[in-house]
Amino acid sequence: MTFESLGLSKPLLRTTAEHQYETPYPIQAEAIPAILAGNDILGIAQTGSGKTASFVLPILELFQRKRVSRLLYLKVLILVPTRELAVQIAEVIGGFAKNLPKAVKHNAVFGGVPLNQQMMTLKDTEILVATPGRLLEMVATKSINLAKIEILVLDEADKMLDLGFRDEITQLLALLPKKRQNILFSATLDTEHEFIQTTLRCNPVRIEVAAKTTNTELIHQSAYRVAPENKGPLLRYLIKSQKMEQVLVFVSSVRTADNLTVKLKKNGIDASAIHSKKSQGARTNAMNGFKKGDIKVLVATDLASRGIDVQLLPIVINFELPRSPKDYIHRIGRTGRAEATGRAISLICPEDEHHFKIIQKKTGQTVEIIESADLVLAGA
Ligand code: AMP
Repeated sequence: MTFESLGLSKPLLRTTAEHQYETPYPIQAEAIPAILAGNDILGIAQTGSGKTASFVLPILELFQRKRVSRLLYLKVLILVPTRELAVQIAEVIGGFAKNLPKAVKHNAVFGGVPLNQQMMTLKDTEILVATPGRLLEMVATKSINLAKIEILVLDEADKMLDLGFRDEITQLLALLPKKRQNILFSATLDTEHEFIQTTLRCNPVRIEVAAKTTNTELIHQSAYRVAPENKGPLLRYLIKSQKMEQVLVFVSSVRTADNLTVKLKKNGIDASAIHSKKSQGARTNAMNGFKKGDIKVLVATDLASRGIDVQLLPIVINFELPRSPKDYIHRIGRTGRAEATGRAISLICPEDEHHFKIIQKKTGQTVEIIESADLVLAGA
C-alpha cells in the first residue's frame, strides 16, 4: 500500500515523502479514498493513529481536483475541542499544503486571544480550524459566514461532548448548509455519539482502527513506590540520574503543575507548565520550547495534554495518577507514537496502590514496580 495508490496527486505525494511517511497508516488507507469519493465518514480512532493526515490529505486533494470551489470563501470547517489541537491541525495543513500549485488559505481560531486580532486574519480563509465557543462569537459578530461550508470535520467529537460543547455544536450545525460532506472522528463510540450522528443526519462510512492499547507494546512501563514527601526529589533524581532530555510530566491539578514547575526550576531543571489557567501565548511558548528542546520538562494537566503531539517523545511520567484507566492509556500514549518506542513511569504512593491495581487490571497491563526507598535522593 502506498500513498500514490490512495489517489493523491504529485504535490501531496512529494510532501508525504518529505515528511517521511512511507506507508499509509490503517486509518489513512481507509479514510483517504472514502473521503475522496465524497462519502461521509465516522472514524473511530485515537490521537497517534495518524487521523489528522487521514482527513487533511484528501481535503487538500479535493481542492486540487476543484471538487471544492476555488472561489475565495470559507468552505471547510474543522471543529476541535481545544486550542492546542486547533494549532496543531493548522500546522499539519500548512505543512501539507506547502507544495500545492495554488495556495489554500487556512486559519485557526480559538479562545484565549483577543477576538479582534483573529477576526483580522480571516479574509479569504478557505479552511478554518476552530473551537466551538470562539466560532460562535465570530458568528455573533458577523465576522464569519458558515453558509457555504462544503466539508465539515468534527475532530475528537467525544472530547467536545465531554467538555460540554453539545449546545454550541447544535447551534453551529444549524448554520451550515444541509448538503455537505461530514467527517467525524472520535476516540470512542458511546451513547453520546448517537447525539452527533443524529444531529449530522448522515449515513457515514464507518472506519475503526485498533485502539491505542495495541500500541502500548512499544511503551516500556514501570512504577516507583515512593512516600508522598519524596515524590518531588524522586522526580528530580530520575530526570538527573537518567539524563532525561525531554519528558512530559502529568499532574492532576493546575496548582500542582505550577508548584512542581517552580521546584524543578529552583533545582536547575528547565521546566514549564501547560494548563487551562495559562494564557494562549504562554501555552504556545511552552509547547514550542519543549518541541525544540529548550525546555526539558513540560508539566501538564490531562485537559491541556489533549493534542500535545511531539515527534518521538521518549518519556512520560505520571507524577500523579490519572482518575481513569482510559486517561492512563491516553497519557502514556503520548510516547511510543508513530511506531517509535517510549517509556512511561508512574510514581505511586501507598494510597495510590489500590487505584493503580485497578488501572492495570482494566488496561490489561502489568507494570513492573521498583522500590525507591533505597535510592539516595538527597541533593536531587
Ligand atoms: P495523529 O494521530 O494525526 O496525531 O498523528 C500521529 C503522528 O503520526 C504524527 O506525529 C504524524 O506526523 C505521524 N504520522 C501520521 N501518518 C504517518 C505515516 N503514514 N507515516 C509516518 N508517520 C505518520
